[in-house]
Amino acid sequence: MEKINKTDKEWREILSEEEFIVTRKKGTERAFTGKYYKNEETGKYLCICCGKELFSSEHKFDSGSGWPSFFLPVNEENIKTETDLSHFMRRTEVNCAKCGAHLGHVFDDGPKPTGKRYCINSVSLKFEKK
Ligand code: FE
Repeated sequence: MEKINKTDKEWREILSEEEFIVTRKKGTERAFTGKYYKNEETGKYLCICCGKELFSSEHKFDSGSGWPSFFLPVNEENIKTETDLSHFMRRTEVNCAKCGAHLGHVFDDGPKPTGKRYCINSVSLKFEKK
């Protein structure tokens, strides 16, 4: 996959302040405030930074967490995970494989069949209705 590398200055030119803080500085939107938390429309969720297809409405579920949640990414290759030890917790961070955007975290308390819960910030995503 061709990777995208931009400076903070370049990202700031194409992202809103909140999008920049979350995706490029590992921020988190406030729970229950994101525009896609309750979105039940059919379609795909793309990376807000680079447009890579990351998640599908097919795999979305209501986790009650306050963030859009998916039990599967659209393609394992499109995301990249790494251990995140910040905030005195051990979590697995989820990033876009193409541009490195911080998306959220993945937990092992999701529904069947995967048991995974990809807990993703709405601002990291751009929904495209099918
Ligand atoms: Fe991306």
